[in-house]
Amino acid sequence: MKQDVYEFIAIGLGPFNLSLACLAEPLELNGIFLERSAEFNWHPDMLIDNATLQNPFIADLVSLADPTSRFSFLNYCKEEGKLYSYYFRESFYLTRTEYNDYCRWAAMRLSNLRFEHEVQSLSYDEEAQCYVVAGVKGAMRTPFVLHCRKLVLGVGTRPSFPECCQPGGHRYLHTAYYLANKAALQKKRSITIVGSGQSAAEVYYDLLQEIDEHDYSLIWITRSPRFFQMETTKLTLEMFSPDYIDYFYELDEPTKERIVRKQDSLYKGVNASLINRIYDLLDDRRKRGGVLRTHLITNCELQDCRYDPDGDHYEIEFCQLDCGTRYAHRSEGLVFATGYRENIAPFVDGIRHRMRWDEKGRYQLARNYAADLNGSEIFIQNAGQHTHGMTNQDLGMSCYRNSYILRELTGVEHYKIERRIALQDFAIPATADFVRL
Ligand SMILES: Cc1cc2nc3c(=O)[nH]c(=O)nc-3n(C[C@H](O)[C@H](O)[C@H](O)COP(=O)(O)OP(=O)(O)OC[C@H]3O[C@@H](n4cnc5c(N)ncnc54)[C@H](O)[C@@H]3O)c2cc1C
Repeated sequence: MKQDVYEFIAIGLGPFNLSLACLAEPLELNGIFLERSAEFNWHPDMLIDNATLQNPFIADLVSLADPTSRFSFLNYCKEEGKLYSYYFRESFYLTRTEYNDYCRWAAMRLSNLRFEHEVQSLSYDEEAQCYVVAGVKGAMRTPFVLHCRKLVLGVGTRPSFPECCQPGGHRYLHTAYYLANKAALQKKRSITIVGSGQSAAEVYYDLLQEIDEHDYSLIWITRSPRFFQMETTKLTLEMFSPDYIDYFYELDEPTKERIVRKQDSLYKGVNASLINRIYDLLDDRRKRGGVLRTHLITNCELQDCRYDPDGDHYEIEFCQLDCGTRYAHRSEGLVFATGYRENIAPFVDGIRHRMRWDEKGRYQLARNYAADLNGSEIFIQNAGQHTHGMTNQDLGMSCYRNSYILRELTGVEHYKIERRIALQDFAIPATADFVRL
C-alpha cells in the first residue's frame, strides 16, 4: 500500500523546534512537528513571577533569521495591543511568562504542529528508504505510525542530580518541578537549595521573599567558590556567534572539553540584577533588625544525602572544599538546582545504527547539526555542547541554527546565514601580518 512520506518530521516542541516551525511555515514544506504535551508550555514550573529571559527580546522565535516574519515578538505585541506598553517599559528583557505567552500565541497560528503526539520508537524502512515514527496520540493514547525522509530531534534536556542522589527509590525535588511543589515545600520548617546558577537564585529569591509568612529557615549552598555573575560584557557576548561556533567546531575534542569546563561564567552564573535584588532584600531585612533565618554558603560540595522517611527530613553531608572538613546538615525540604543534562531519548534505539556516536555515548554532530552516517538526515537541537560549544542551549542562537538546518533540509538557503558578525578574531587572522611558525 502506498504511504504518505513527509519530507521531515520534527520531534519535541520547545522553543528550538517551535522557532523552526515558524521559519518553515511560509516555505510550505512537507513537514510536521510532534509534541507529546497537549499544548505549548515552556518550563512551566519555573515561570516564577518576574523571572526574566537572559536574552533581549530580539532573540525571539524568528527575528534574527527573518525580522519581517509575522511570528516576531513585535508583531505579537502589535496584534495583542501590547506594543505601546512594551515601548514605554523601556526594557529589552521579557519575563519568562511573557515569553511563554508569546510562544503559545505563535504555536496557535501554525498549521504544522501536532500536539498530544508522543513518539515512542523510530526505525528505518530500508525498502521504502524512509524513517518510521511510531507512538501514541490523543487522550486515548491511540497508536500512530508516520513516515518521513528526515528527522529533527528537539526533545530538550533532562534534570541533572548529583551522583549520590540519582532518582531511584526516593523522588528528589529539582527546580524543574519547583512551582508544582512550592506550597508543600513552604510547609517545611527548613529548606535547603543546592546549586548556584540562575534557577537556584530565582528559587532562593522567591522563597526568601515569603520567609516570614511561612516561617522556615532557608539555606543556599553551593560547590562554587562564589555566587558568580553571568558574564554579559559585549566582547564576551560575541562568543555567542557563528564565528565562535566555526572556531570551536574545528578544535580537537580534549581542547573542547577543557574550554567548556572553563566557560561556566558564560552561561551558568546568575544575572547581576538578581544578585543585587537578593543582596538588597537581605540587607533590608537586616536593617529592620529581624533575625535572618538564612545562610548563603559557598565552597561546599555535596558528598552524600539520605532521606529519612521516619523523620521526614534529609541528612545531607557536605565537604567544605578549602578546609577539607566534612559537615552534616539536616533539612526538611531540599531542592536541587543542579542543572540539566543532554537527553538522548530511548526512542532513537531503533535507528542507532544509522547514527554517529562519540566514545562517551553522545551524538557526534557534523558541523551542519546532523548526527546520521550520511550527514544529511537526522538533525539535532540542543544536544551538541561538546561539538558546537556553549551556544548549543542559547535561545539567541536558535534562529541561526534553524536557518542552517532548514538549508540542509531543503538544499536552499531560505534565510541568510551569517558567517561573520564578531568584531574580534577567535582564530589567528589569516592575513599576511600573522605568520605561522
Ligand atoms: C528555567 C529555564 C530558563 C531558561 N532560560 C533561558 C534563557 O533565558 N535564555 C537562554 O538562552 N536559555 C535559557 N534556558 C535554556 C534553554 O534555552 C531552554 O532549556 C530551552 O527550553 C531549550 O529548548 P528545547 O527546544 O531544546 O527543549 P524544551 O524546551 O525542553 O522542549 C522539549 C520538548 O520536547 C517534548 N518531548 C520530549 N520527548 C518527546 C517525545 N518522545 N515525543 C514528543 N515530544 C517530546 C517535551 O514535551 C518538550 O515540550 C533556560 C532553561 C531553563 C530550564
